Amino acid sequence: MLSRRALIALTGLVSFYGIDFVMPDLSQDPDGSQAAIAQGNELVPLIYSKHYDVTAFGLEKLHPFDGRKYSKVMRSIVQSGLRAEGEFISPDEITKEQLLLIHTPEYLRSLRHSVQLAKILEQAALAPIPHQLLDWRILKPMRIASGGTILTCRWAMKKGLAINVGGGYHHAERNSGGGFCVYCDIPISLEILRREGLIKTAMVVDTDAHQGNGFSNVLGESDSNFYLDFFDESIYPYPKVEEDWSVAFPARTAGDKYLSTLEDVLPKALDKFRPDLIVYNAGSDVLKSDPLSTFQLSIEEMNQRDLFVVSTARAQNIPLAMVMAGGYSHESADAHSRSITQILKQFEQKT
Ligand SMILES: [Zn+2]
Repeated sequence: MLSRRALIALTGLVSFYGIDFVMPDLSQDPDGSQAAIAQGNELVPLIYSKHYDVTAFGLEKLHPFDGRKYSKVMRSIVQSGLRAEGEFISPDEITKEQLLLIHTPEYLRSLRHSVQLAKILEQAALAPIPHQLLDWRILKPMRIASGGTILTCRWAMKKGLAINVGGGYHHAERNSGGGFCVYCDIPISLEILRREGLIKTAMVVDTDAHQGNGFSNVLGESDSNFYLDFFDESIYPYPKVEEDWSVAFPARTAGDKYLSTLEDVLPKALDKFRPDLIVYNAGSDVLKSDPLSTFQLSIEEMNQRDLFVVSTARAQNIPLAMVMAGGYSHESADAHSRSITQILKQFEQKT
């Protein structure tokens, strides 16, 4: 007989992020799987594809972003003994129809031009490369990870908690991209879940070091969304945009100040706006080793941050979908994998 872990992996082989999504109840709990996770007897769905890594003939190394971060995180989780490699749930690539739920056709057409892509990806050296190659090596992985965010949100609604080992492109807007972000994976996911009647309201908790200007602009168009954003005010993007709740930290903010602010603000935001789903954009560029921000957090402090956000949502029984967002330090993959393994240890029991 298949164990529940094997069944989760098997389920991942079946594409189920379309409209006719059907998923077996793995919880063996007639009262619902969210309660099962809270009791620690259910596995947290981890969404990942071997196609997440972004590599472009070595040129990607000119940007501090580690394009192989996703597979490194997956391997670290496997080394922890909490999952086997085949036990991650593999998503399908986001479809053009799904992209058009948020993006304009003009914007999607503009991505066929390498010069435009090079600007969004912050790497001028990519401009002379044929767009078909850039699409294959850079955009397609991002579209698969965007499919992963949709799938993660679905699993979160079903299980209470799910994690995408990728995604979180928060500088992307309806008609533009920037800061290495091309697709509105979170706004698209929320739109799909809303159309299917799975959610009415959603909160994005964004702790990536940069302000989530793109997603804030898109989601700010509706009162059904709430954007809570913790960012370094001294770095990109310029100028900052207006958001539902911005927590703008000054340059070189230390971990203790960061954590005490988060612990004060997040419960207050949840008192103010109680969403059907939280999407947690958990960037690792808050690390003091990160070259693109001035935050001074240690790996342990980032792990505390992630555990606090997830624990707060679970304590209030609000489903949470976590995605990885940015992170450009050599410690980024290690920091993410430690956060995820700590979350797994706290919220599930190995069977
Ligand atoms: Zn960032």
